[in-house]
Amino acid sequence: MRILIANDDGYLAPGLAALAQAMQGLGTLDIIAPEQNASGTSNALTLNRPLSVYTAANGYRYVNGTPSDCVHVALTGLLPRPDLVVSGINQGANMGDDTLYSGTVAAAMEGFLFGVPAIAFSQVDKGWGDLAAASAVARAVVERVIHQGLLGRAFLLNVNIPNRGDAAQLPWRITRLGRRHASEPVVRQTSPRGEPIYWIGPAGDAREAGPGTDFHATAHGAVSITPLQIDLTDHQHLGDWSGALGALAPEPR
Ligand code: MN
Repeated sequence: MRILIANDDGYLAPGLAALAQAMQGLGTLDIIAPEQNASGTSNALTLNRPLSVYTAANGYRYVNGTPSDCVHVALTGLLPRPDLVVSGINQGANMGDDTLYSGTVAAAMEGFLFGVPAIAFSQVDKGWGDLAAASAVARAVVERVIHQGLLGRAFLLNVNIPNRGDAAQLPWRITRLGRRHASEPVVRQTSPRGEPIYWIGPAGDAREAGPGTDFHATAHGAVSITPLQIDLTDHQHLGDWSGALGALAPEPR
């Protein structure tokens, strides 16, 4: 059993150490993470410069790149193929629309893209509160996956854990992604050199947070587990688009 551990908060993040601790004893652990905090980098790969891989005193590898870079390099030549990729534990929720921007989810997704089962873990609130309890949840989820014999085919799970001391006692809910409102307005400031500068505003509040969603589960005292897929095709409206645009395609010239 070999487990690849990554994150997007960087190799010094407490959540990475907590996840590595959680996986102790389950097999051979390889830990590889971005050198700097790379939250919000989604699935970006660094293509315009080479990557360097360093090893810290504690054995963690770190890369001057993105979360996807880390897992990509690991899976394409740096390290033996793992049986499972785990990512996190992220500082802050990755629910609803967050999953599209999340480097935590992306690191797991990179494993999934290569056919390796993968799980992303996030704490709902920032600040690393009750991290040990979140670590216990991560351990329990991975143990369950192993014991259920689920590692035979690739999957991608997105787990969000409430910051509670009793997180390990909370029920687990299988959920779908909710939706967020559009993010808050950009914050305009003036740089010391007099130039206008802009800070991307915080994510919007939950908009679609009804029963069955990740937002609902975590707000009601449960661990949220959302199985994800990658196909972004709007299957429901394929026929509509075919009628509206497909029939109008210009003749080949
Ligand atoms: Mn992060």
